[in-house]
Amino acid sequence: MTDVLVVGGGPAGLSAALFTAKNGLDTAVFDTDGTWMHKAHLFNYPGIGSIDGSNYLAVLREQVDDFGVDRHQDAEVTAIDATDDGFTVTAEGDEHTADYVVLATGANRDLAEDLGCAFTDDDVVDVDVTMETSVENAYATGAMVRAEEWQAVISAGDGAAAALNVLTKEKGEHFHDFDTPATAEAVMGSLVDD
Ligand SMILES: Cc1cc2nc3c(=O)[nH]c(=O)nc-3n(C[C@H](O)[C@H](O)[C@H](O)COP(=O)(O)OP(=O)(O)OC[C@H]3O[C@@H](n4cnc5c(N)ncnc54)[C@H](O)[C@@H]3O)c2cc1C
Repeated sequence: MTDVLVVGGGPAGLSAALFTAKNGLDTAVFDTDGTWMHKAHLFNYPGIGSIDGSNYLAVLREQVDDFGVDRHQDAEVTAIDATDDGFTVTAEGDEHTADYVVLATGANRDLAEDLGCAFTDDDVVDVDVTMETSVENAYATGAMVRAEEWQAVISAGDGAAAALNVLTKEKGEHFHDFDTPATAEAVMGSLVDD
């Protein structure tokens, strides 16, 4: 059983996976690589001057891999069910179980609908400020929770917010992921070797 299962590997999904894996939760990502980032060139991602969207994605994928995310590339999730123990997700004919799911499927909201998540009057997935849906321990992030107003940095922020809320539930107290220059070496030493 995985702690956190993320569906979608754009900025939202990989950001969520980065924060949960970095802070000790077993995290898997399933992604079909249809992210809009392959069509984008970023000039408006704070802290990054200019980067091709596919290059941004390559850096982000390497970043999550370094923190031990189990990334299933080109693997489609075809079903998701809430169970008494959490969630069961079907991908490529195999079932995977997890305590938490983070949906990050871009503007495609089919899985959220299948899971029974409530939608707003604008027909987007209804979430609170932590990105949790009406289904406990199921989060929705990125383009699927907004009618337009889509930007990569917003999606990445949504993923981080979902991850911090999962971490808060798991650790039992409000959690923030703060590093300092003094602790940076230890974090770098914890990275997964190739
Ligand atoms: C032409 C264009 C230019 C843009 N330029 C900019 C820009 O300059 N700056 C900016 O900030 N934003 C830009 N954007 C918007 C930006 O690309 C999106 O806001 C961002 O990609 C949304 O991130 P996301 O993670 O929510 O969704 P996405 O990036 O769409 O990622 C969703 C991922 O989920 C996967 N997926 C979906 N269903 C499943 C499933 N069932 N199983 C497994 N995986 C699944 C998809 O294949 C995809 O990889 C641009 C978009 C376009 C189209």
